[in-house]
Amino acid sequence: MTLDAQPVPFVDLRTQHEQMAAEIDDAVREVLGSSRFILGRQLSAFEEEFATRCEVEHCIGVGSGTDALVLALRACGLGPGDEVITPSLTFFAAPFAVASVGAVPVFVDVDEATGTLDPDLACEAITPRTRAIMPVHLYGRCADLGALSTLAAERELWLIEDAAQAHGARIGGRPAGSVGQIGCFSFYPTKNLGALGDGGAVVTNDQQLADRARLLRNYGETHKYRHVTMAGNSRLDELQAAVLRKKLPRLEAWNEARIRAAGAYAELLDPALNPPAPRQDREHVFHLYVIRVGERDAVRGRISRHGIETGIHYPVPVHLQPAFSDVPHVTGDLRVTERMAAEVLSLPMFPTISSEQLRCVAGQVNDCLGKSAA
Ligand SMILES: *Cc1c(COP(=O)(O)O)cnc(C)c1O
Repeated sequence: MTLDAQPVPFVDLRTQHEQMAAEIDDAVREVLGSSRFILGRQLSAFEEEFATRCEVEHCIGVGSGTDALVLALRACGLGPGDEVITPSLTFFAAPFAVASVGAVPVFVDVDEATGTLDPDLACEAITPRTRAIMPVHLYGRCADLGALSTLAAERELWLIEDAAQAHGARIGGRPAGSVGQIGCFSFYPTKNLGALGDGGAVVTNDQQLADRARLLRNYGETHKYRHVTMAGNSRLDELQAAVLRKKLPRLEAWNEARIRAAGAYAELLDPALNPPAPRQDREHVFHLYVIRVGERDAVRGRISRHGIETGIHYPVPVHLQPAFSDVPHVTGDLRVTERMAAEVLSLPMFPTISSEQLRCVAGQVNDCLGKSAA
């Protein structure tokens, strides 16, 4: 690290938690006072509050975002032989969830402007075995849910949203997670709404799906010691639910702070870096601020020498992961996915990022770009 630079972390959770230390203490005390740690009133209150926030009828808190995806697929009855259309430019969890229920991920390319599932290509990938479309709202921007929900309805397919990066994002006025039959969220600590550990939720307007998800998260138990379906446990615990209840009222302000930071980046950064363009029909909540740059690894190395942390989301598309080498899947032409995986670079982004930090990052990135092109 050179002396002129101010180090900028990729994510800073400490400042956020310092600002609400008293509320977090209260949350912990409330749970200790109740001495109820699993499936208590903090969870049911959070479920109600998060359902309201997502403008849906039901929310079921589960152990992680990955479990939310697995339970959603199981609640929809997906299993061996079924095909699920999903992107490969994403985190491993959604394709893992598909494979884990015995279904076959069908990897489809993304739209270059948004990095999300291309609806025309999704349509072409439908076969008689296709049962579901599972788009991912990558980086905090909704996939094209208008086109995808029309397609899913016409072809009688489930639409399952991976909204793990998109708490509070909207498309056509509707919140992420509320357009498909089921939306899946993660409360991993760095997400826009993060717990102090693992957590997740599924949201739905469908009473039957909600009932099934509730069974599946708790041993398939309808009454004490009566198990009607094969299931283990995956529950959002009371401590996490109590903390999430303190954080949820701040989600909107935190998202606005992310959007402001993204606006500042877009003004400061060299246009050659493809700063993400806001789109009027989709409210991007900038879980990640991702630019695209050739010679990405060289640029990243230079920036890191100035103390600026960056990330890559994701360097290896899921269809190329070793785990999929001997697991059934279908891979179409993924040229946009592969090109993006080689070029994407995530810059520091968190609600409390300061204008000085933003200027420092943008300055170094612009500088490194000039040097690497030279
Ligand atoms: C974080 C994430 C998940 C998984 O969530 P966990 O809570 O870590 O299990 C799934 N999909 C996407 C797109 C994610 O970013």
